[in-house]
Amino acid sequence: MKSIATITRTKEIMERHQLSFKKSLGQNFLIDVNILEKIVSKAGIDDETVVIEVGPGIGALTEQLAKKAEHVYAFEIDGRLIDVLEDTMSPYPQVTVIHQDILEVDLNTFIAEHVPEGKKVKVVANLPYYITTPILMKLLSSQLPIESITVMMQKEVAARMAAAPNSKDYGSLSIAVQYYTESDVIMTVPKTCFVPQPNVDSAILQLYVRSQPYVSVKDEALYFELVQASFGQRRKTLRNNLKRAFKDLDAAELDQVFAESNIDGTRRGESLTLEEFGYLSDVMSLYVK
Ligand code: SAM
Repeated sequence: MKSIATITRTKEIMERHQLSFKKSLGQNFLIDVNILEKIVSKAGIDDETVVIEVGPGIGALTEQLAKKAEHVYAFEIDGRLIDVLEDTMSPYPQVTVIHQDILEVDLNTFIAEHVPEGKKVKVVANLPYYITTPILMKLLSSQLPIESITVMMQKEVAARMAAAPNSKDYGSLSIAVQYYTESDVIMTVPKTCFVPQPNVDSAILQLYVRSQPYVSVKDEALYFELVQASFGQRRKTLRNNLKRAFKDLDAAELDQVFAESNIDGTRRGESLTLEEFGYLSDVMSLYVK
């Protein structure tokens, strides 16, 4: 039988189940087997890997994952697709479909209960665009025992996540992602590879989860608060952005923070590396109440 990720099979499945695409759930299904094979191979899926998939849709990527992985747990929010997946995944007993919103799942508990110790766990997904960032932030900040995350997303968002300092794409999202992972844009994918076609092109981002965050800081919440504040108004200097955000620090204290962390307050947030934000936040933690 033809792969699910073909226009003929996708149309046939949709018609047989009298389904329409739900735009509000980010339903753009992949219809290019080559791209899917590339995702699976770049993700390094083998018969020792347990995969967590977000949003299987009608099973285009799930099918390719099932051919290589030990097991695939696929979380789908749309109840209409659960019956469809029961049908399309029937040749693949190594797939378990779970009808749940991924943002509601306690993945640490799920992994502890379902994955035998010593097995590799990887996340692979063609993410719904409307919640790409919340899903990734949840996966990263939960400190899951996973090796990597290989995900398709809007090209511009992937560029922001992987951006280096002093580039226009660098911002608080780049720092949040790189704090937890080493990131790499593998390839861009044109919108013609999906049905229905989205308005924008996509990219596949590979994230290797670090065993420890990239920088070790005294107060993680303050680190991220500082990063957020530093990009508050991109054209403003660090000093001005921080003055606005940390009102309980007076000008002299702020000068002291810059001096002790060896960071020039006239720089812009976009020029600071993750380590430099670390120095700044560690010194700041001594001053903020
Ligand atoms: N994996 C399929 C593919 O590659 O063709 C479908 C990908 S489509 C871009 C995104 C899928 O995520 C849809 O099936 C959508 O219903 C599902 N989805 C959207 N929000 C979700 C959520 N919060 N939790 C789980 N699945 C979700």
